[in-house]
Amino acid sequence: MRHLPICLALVFVLGSASVSPAEESQAANVRRSGTWFIEETQNFSICWPAGYRVQGDLAATFEQMREKLCATWLPKHEVSAWQPKCHIVIHARFEGYAKEVGPGARQTTGSSLLDFDQGRITLRRIDIRGDRADWLSEAFAHELTHVVLAERFIDTPIPHWADEGMAIQADPVAKRQLHGRDLHSAIAAGGEFRLAELLTLDRYPHPSRMGTFYGQSASIVEFLTQIGTREQLVAFVEQATAAGYDKALRDVYAIAGVGSFEQKWRQHLRTGQGRTTISKRETAAQPDSQSLATADPAVATSDVYKPPSRRGAVLFVAPKNTGPGVGRLARDFL
Ligand SMILES: [Zn+2]
Repeated sequence: MRHLPICLALVFVLGSASVSPAEESQAANVRRSGTWFIEETQNFSICWPAGYRVQGDLAATFEQMREKLCATWLPKHEVSAWQPKCHIVIHARFEGYAKEVGPGARQTTGSSLLDFDQGRITLRRIDIRGDRADWLSEAFAHELTHVVLAERFIDTPIPHWADEGMAIQADPVAKRQLHGRDLHSAIAAGGEFRLAELLTLDRYPHPSRMGTFYGQSASIVEFLTQIGTREQLVAFVEQATAAGYDKALRDVYAIAGVGSFEQKWRQHLRTGQGRTTISKRETAAQPDSQSLATADPAVATSDVYKPPSRRGAVLFVAPKNTGPGVGRLARDFL
């Protein structure tokens, strides 16, 4: 049995959502279990505590998001109905969320957890801080991307750069721009990863380099989706894990090898195609312009992460004022 990373993400704005108890009772697929309401859909089991006000038709929204993500990343992969369903647990208060997610959850908004056994996914779960109003746009899509991508990486774990780089594509534009800023800050300081290192990382890097890791991973994914399709990208990652990057680059992109790939990616950055532009308004909307990787001293100085293993779930935590995928600390969860 193996666990894949729990990935935690952050949202900035707090608030609430709403479905009245009367509406809850009218929904045919909603049942009550103790202090929880549970709504069943084809692929999700959505849970929220009594008294929590759910806004909108989450069942339809989640199913649509799943369908869209499957079409985006796995267009030729027949994704059957999820069994087990993906449990979405919406916590009304931080305390309940932290109890499930564990230490380090305070500055986060969502987490995903996958478990595997004998060639199949045996657990899909996303925990959400329902006390944060923007959790759906700021965290849920990112976490759901991890769950969807797992469909193609059951026997062999997806490389971290690909998993996070693709999930970041579901983040809001402003957050992706912040990732880009982290990357370019790292490049200016000579602190970016060589691609031979980034592509083959078997664990998440030290917290001090997590901002660079996320920014560079997102940039690589963006580059590859410009020179090929998303389906090609997923196929490339699959082939790379089986036969190595040099062969996968040759077969899928007609690129000679990792060295040539790095040259092309750097050229892509130099020509401005991969450069992130941040408008004044978007910049002003962010709490701080400092490096996201070091925004939280506790994260920047911590060194407690362990590699995501096939037998140990790993927790990823984002610093307080960053978005999903930025400057995370990975910590053993079990
Ligand atoms: Zn993630």
